[in-house]
Amino acid sequence: GISQDEQYLPLRGAKKDGFGPVKNVGQEPRFLEMVKLFFDRAAQYTDIDPGMLEYMRGSHAVYRVSFPFQRSDGSVEVIMGYRAHHNSHTTPLKGGIRFSESVDLQEIEALAALMTFKSAVVNVPFGGAKGGVRINPHDYSEDELERITRRFTCELASSGFLGPSIDVPAPDLGTGPKEMSWIADTYATIYGDNDVNSYACVTGKPASFGGIAGRLEATGLGVYFGVREFLSQRLLMKRAGLTPGVAGKTFIIQGFGNVGFFAAKNIYENGGHIIGVSEMNSGIYSSQGFNPSELLAYVKENDSLRGFPGAERVFRSHEVSKILDMECDVLIPAAFQKQITSENASRINAKIVCEAANGPVTPYAEDILESRGIAVVPDLILNAGGVTVSYFEWLKNLSHVRFGRLTRRFEEQSKDLMLQAMTYEGRALDLAPRRRSNIIKGPAEIDIVRSGLEEAM
Ligand code: GLU
Repeated sequence: GISQDEQYLPLRGAKKDGFGPVKNVGQEPRFLEMVKLFFDRAAQYTDIDPGMLEYMRGSHAVYRVSFPFQRSDGSVEVIMGYRAHHNSHTTPLKGGIRFSESVDLQEIEALAALMTFKSAVVNVPFGGAKGGVRINPHDYSEDELERITRRFTCELASSGFLGPSIDVPAPDLGTGPKEMSWIADTYATIYGDNDVNSYACVTGKPASFGGIAGRLEATGLGVYFGVREFLSQRLLMKRAGLTPGVAGKTFIIQGFGNVGFFAAKNIYENGGHIIGVSEMNSGIYSSQGFNPSELLAYVKENDSLRGFPGAERVFRSHEVSKILDMECDVLIPAAFQKQITSENASRINAKIVCEAANGPVTPYAEDILESRGIAVVPDLILNAGGVTVSYFEWLKNLSHVRFGRLTRRFEEQSKDLMLQAMTYEGRALDLAPRRRSNIIKGPAEIDIVRSGLEEAM
């Protein structure tokens, strides 16, 4: 069994600022309790049997492993890995694997629960899972990362936490197509001819390695679709004091990874002004706006946004989260959970907050934002583009479809599914507090969690 202490490991490497694990402030619960709080609030509005609710509140199964790892310099360290299965009402279970120093069991369980409801909201037939390895990937060479990934894959596969019809991981914070190709290759090496569908054991693979066109961009594109749909609602925009449409609005994006970059790129290409961007250790602001592709090229070259020409304000690593306080129309936290808390919610200077990361706004912060008339567009809809396209990659691998015309049809279908989810037959966009009160009282997240909960039953 897992002791209480292990479930709630002290945060390692807690930083004062930036995207690292955020210290608990005031009454803020930890991430798992935060997700359970959203769940309990939503559950009140359902007719689901209390026993079933109790079951759906927690994880179905959790896996924790530690293994010794010999670094390239000969030293040995112990690597911790986790995988949580939130709900196995539908198999396979699905959800990313993150490489981050923040990883502990409660974080992974929280993210697994979000995956169950997210998949249910976009109507893709997966249960929710999540995994993680507690390392800072920047501290390891590529060769070391490959060895860690392959070892973790063997541990998962031999323990019933990996397989095309069991549990199908994907990229998350600190991982990408490369790590997914190592997972697929390791799994295929173990099961070889016994599992003709072995590449379907993981999604988010490179296109040349059983992946699907568009998966890399999918989460960011889904964020853009959601933002676009939300900003097209006249009534809601009027309440926010804005005219409808993305064009001409100002956006600040926290996090310039895969999700943040492709969200920014699509917003920019459709006339939005990207006036602020931050990554792990730096942030920049300019009232003139930035071209995200130029920013990406600069970050790749310099490992930082600092020094980018034309920035009116530069945020150094110790104050990078201050970018959240800057004035803009739409603030998009696309980095890490618990970035907007009861500590900084009263300083947010945006009209709309769009959750691109998983769980970036805490329940208490959401109450504060709502009382200030700031609408929050929930993560469960907004970042569901990734798992939606993952579904088509998985289908493609299972059905042995070749690249080409059929793949393009999959792409179109995944866009349709995403759009359907974004509008949720018109209901999910009912996010403005008063308008929504005829559906449910309280923050929009609750209504979405409730929908996911009912769909998942
Ligand atoms: N890690 C992504 C998420 O949080 C993608 C999950 C997937 O594609 O399975 O939604």
